[in-house]
Formats: sequence, C-alpha cells, structure tokens
Amino acid sequence: MPRVYLLPTSKYSPEVIAVAFAKTSRSPKPFDRTAEELSAEQSAKFHEKWVIGYGHASVAEHAVVHVAVEGISRVAAEALESARLGSFTEKSSRYQRFTPEEVVIPPEIAGKAAEKAYREAVETLFGAYGRCVAAVREQVRRTEPPREGESEKRWDARIRSRYADVCRFLLPMGVRTNLGLTMNARLLAHTLRKMLSHPLAEVRQIAEQILSVAKEEVPTLLKYVGEVEGWQKGAEALRARAANFRGGGTYAEDWCHLVSWEPRGEERVLAAMLYRYGNRPYTDYLAYVRGLPREERKTIAQEVLGVLGERDVPPRELEYTAYTFDIVIDQGGYYEFKRHRMMTQTPQALGVGLGYAVPRLAVEAGLEGEYRAAMDAAARAYEAIAEVSADAAAYVVPNAFKRRVLAVLNLREAFHFLRLRAAPNAHFSMRRLAYRMAEEIAAVHPTLAAFLNLPAGSWEAVEKEHFAAV
Ligand SMILES: Cc1cc2nc3c(=O)[nH]c(=O)nc-3n(C[C@H](O)[C@H](O)[C@H](O)COP(=O)(O)OP(=O)(O)OC[C@H]3O[C@@H](n4cnc5c(N)ncnc54)[C@H](O)[C@@H]3O)c2cc1C
Repeated sequence: MPRVYLLPTSKYSPEVIAVAFAKTSRSPKPFDRTAEELSAEQSAKFHEKWVIGYGHASVAEHAVVHVAVEGISRVAAEALESARLGSFTEKSSRYQRFTPEEVVIPPEIAGKAAEKAYREAVETLFGAYGRCVAAVREQVRRTEPPREGESEKRWDARIRSRYADVCRFLLPMGVRTNLGLTMNARLLAHTLRKMLSHPLAEVRQIAEQILSVAKEEVPTLLKYVGEVEGWQKGAEALRARAANFRGGGTYAEDWCHLVSWEPRGEERVLAAMLYRYGNRPYTDYLAYVRGLPREERKTIAQEVLGVLGERDVPPRELEYTAYTFDIVIDQGGYYEFKRHRMMTQTPQALGVGLGYAVPRLAVEAGLEGEYRAAMDAAARAYEAIAEVSADAAAYVVPNAFKRRVLAVLNLREAFHFLRLRAAPNAHFSMRRLAYRMAEEIAAVHPTLAAFLNLPAGSWEAVEKEHFAAV
C-alpha cells in the first residue's frame, strides 16, 4: 500500500518542507522522518549550499508563502502580477466600488506642482465615476427589474457588474486595491528582484515590505534578494532607441492583428495527437497528416476535441502551434488579459497616446460630455506628471485609455482563454477581444478552431452593443 500524507505547514516551516523533499534525491528515509530530524539551522545550511550555492533552485519551489497585500495602487499591482507563475486574487472593479480617498499619491510627484494636477484629475474622474454609477445603475434597473421576491440587496448584487463594468472606465490606475498572493520562494525571489529594481518608488517600497514579512517564513531562500543593478540602465537605452525609431507603416493599423502563426500548425497538432498513441517518429505522422484530405483531418480532430465537455481541459498536443497577436485594448480589459499566465505578454507603457474608449451605456445615461471632459482632464494631468516622471504618469490614466500589448499563446491556452472570456458573464472588453481573436485563429486554422464552441456572437455585435467609441 503506498503511503500518502501531508507535511503540514502548521508543524514544519516552508524551508524545512523544501529540504525534506529535496533530501529524497539521495536518502531512502521517509519524508516525515527527515522533516522531524531537521532543525531550522540545518535547513538553512542546506539551502545555502544547494539552492543558493549550486543553483538547484527548483528545491525552493516546495517552500510556499501566502502574502496579503492591501492598499497598493493598481500600477503597483500590475508590477507584482507580472510574475506570471504566481497565484493572485484581487479586489474586483466589477463588483466593488472605489472612492477617491483610496488613491495612491506617487512619491515621485509628492509636494510638486504635478501632485496638484494629479489630485485635480482624480477628483474630476471620481466625480464622473460617482455620477456614472448613479445614472447607469438607474438605467440598468429600468431594463432589469427585480425578480419576484428578490430583495433590494440581491437585486443590486445581480446587476452590479452591469453598471460597474461601464463606470470602471473612469477609474484611474492610482486607485488602491487589495490582493492575496501565493508564491513559491523561487518565484518570489525573482519577483522581488524585479520589483526592487523597478523605477517606481511605490513598487520598490512594497517589495521591501513583502520581503520583510516573507522572510519570517523563508529567511534563507530570500536572504540574498536585492536590487539588480543594470536592469534600469538597459531599459533606458532601449527606450531611447525605440523613441528614435522613425520607420513603420508597413501594414494597416488594426486593433487586433494576428502577426504570425504557423501555416502548417494544424498538421503539427494532428500529427502530435497521432504520435501520442503511435510508436513512429514525428515526421512520419506529419507526412501522413499532410497527405490526408480535409475531411479526414476533421475526423481526427473530432475524435479528440469533439468529445470534450465545456470545462474539460483540451489535450497538451494543442500546444504544438502558437499565435502572435498585436492587440490594442482599453486598460480595464488589459488588466484582466494580463492575468492569463500561459501566454507570453509584452505590454507597452500605459499612456494616453492611443485615445480612449467610450462605453455606450454612459452615453445613453446622458454622461458623454462629462465622461469625455474627465478623460481630457486625465490626459492633461498625464502630460504634466510625465514631465516629472513618465512612469508615475500612469497613475492618473483611467481604465478607458487604450494600450498595446504583444501576446503569444498556443492553441491550448487559446481554447481556455477564448471560452472563458467570450462567455456572457465576461466583461464586454474581453468578450470583444475573445471573439476577434477566435475569428483570426479560425481564419488560419479552421479545422481545429471549429471545436472552440464559443457562445453565438461576434466581436462586431459586442462592439456595437457596448461601445459608443472604441
Ligand atoms: C468570471 C470570472 C471572475 C473573476 N473574478 C476575479 C476576481 O474577482 N478577482 C481576481 O483577481 N480575478 C478574477 N478573475 C480572474 C481569474 O481569477 C484568473 O486569474 C484569470 O481568469 C486567468 O485565468 P486562469 O487562471 O483560469 O488561466 P490562465 O492563467 O490563462 O492559465 C491557463 C491554465 O493553466 C493552468 N494554470 C495556470 N497557472 C496555474 C497554476 N499556478 N496552478 C495550476 N494551474 C495553473 C490552469 O489549468 C489554467 O486554466 C475572474 C475570472 C473570471 C472568468
């Protein structure tokens, strides 16, 4: 009978657990006996020698911490969440209300004229946000009456995302958020190094605080974490080079551009599916699939993908083809997009240069003038702050402003992402993006994309229903 049991964190520290697991590599002893025999000092010595000294870093993945982080700006949260292997849950802009008192003043502008510009823009944005919540809520209540026996509270909870989804466009990135993070010590060390080398003071300060509390549980594995000199220098050189670039214009600008894909991607995936169950080299299956008529290929896809239920995870072989997208999306949408970890994403800095989106319900509620005035005020404040610090200027940018992001995802992640984000309960910015990406993928790989089974709809329909300008 196998022996299966927990090494409880109530009994052993994360560093002891990591050593107990690591020692199974050389010792036949049961894990719990090893853990019992280990002192904190012995564990520390082990980590110093093997993990830090010899670079057997994966051992640190067995030491896991949970850190509660409250009251940080969404700018800082973004820096933290760029640690793609982490697990996060954050205060939702779709289900909670925000107030102007909850805004972080970036230290870079504290006491300067730019602070005044920031505070004034924030006040304007929150004034519009408050009126938007009241007016759009009323609008939604008219179209979504309470159900029989539904209390006022339950009714509001049911429709809240409908009006919050619209009004969140006015929220600046300086607004405070709370998040819970779960990370292993290897990832945490890397994340903190990045954050300690970040140009923004708030991000560096949060990193110091996380480091300080996390060291209570993993003192050795975080012992040598510090700023990495040179990271900022490299970034500055590239920023200057990118700013001097004067070429371009080789393709028509589009908000969602499938930049590259593999013309033979479907063949690669289908051949890999056969490979899994066969015993011949991959190239044999590739040649075989290439020789098959389209109908036959569809049958293979049907046998694997046609049997999947709504929540079933598609097979790994879908990872043998990938897509590169260049996307322009509102910041609110990007903030959700960035949480998808099985993608490689490179966002450009958040600014005001690409303009802003206008949700249709805000216009129908009679708020277009105020909404646009608030956006213009934010854009002016952005310029004033950028004179002091281009990075700190992001704090004033509301969710409505658009941002460019480069993303590579394989077809397996595409299945997951597109199904989740085209769902009716997803935010309309994400639904528009999901439908559009699905359309682009279906145009190049129709046989496999036929199994995406998204809800009936199109990005054009979402755009028309929810945006007055985008
Ligand atoms: C309806 C809805 C409401 C949401 N509300 C909130 C909210 O209030 N607050 C909030 O912070 N977020 C919220 N989110 C975001 C959500 O928590 C995820 O962060 C986001 O959707 C990323 O998707 P994912 O984790 O499923 O998959 P991805 O990150 O895209 O990864 C793809 C797949 O890889 C696997 N995977 C990736 N990383 C891990 C891991 N570390 N461990 C195990 N498996 C992994 C999983 O199978 C996953 O499905 C919401 C999402 C939805 C759809």
